[in-house]
Amino acid sequence: LEEQSNGKLLQKCLTNKGYRLTRPRELILELLCTDAPHADANLIYDQVRKQLPHVSLGTVYRTLHVLAEAGLIRELHCGDGQAHYDGNVTEHYHVMCTCCGTVEDVPISRLDALEQQAETLTRFAVAYHRLDFYGLCARCQERESGQA
Ligand SMILES: [Zn+2]
Ligand SMILES: [Zn+2]
Repeated sequence: LEEQSNGKLLQKCLTNKGYRLTRPRELILELLCTDAPHADANLIYDQVRKQLPHVSLGTVYRTLHVLAEAGLIRELHCGDGQAHYDGNVTEHYHVMCTCCGTVEDVPISRLDALEQQAETLTRFAVAYHRLDFYGLCARCQERESGQA
């Protein structure tokens, strides 16, 4: 029942923007909201193909574009030259592994005070800020120490 209402909500979000709810759109959004948050297009393509064997990488890219346009997902640029996609569209921070490219959420509260300080110092009306963290994920650290 819950899944049905999620589908309805999704459909409403899309139709409000003039898009139809298609199976790839539904599948990709579901992936990014549950099993594979922060996935890149290639990973999404691999996952979607398990259920829709005839889907093309082009369709996956177009679908990601449509979902981002509709405000249902966020495109992340974390500096590895590969866009990652997030089913969580609220403002939050990310940490990225410089070795394997894994992206995870950093559950800290927004730095509103810092943003206000920037406003005071520059007299800009600051609209948003970006902050990303980089380093080695736990798995890569283990692998490195295993090799040593
Ligand atoms: Zn890693
Ligand atoms: Zn995230």
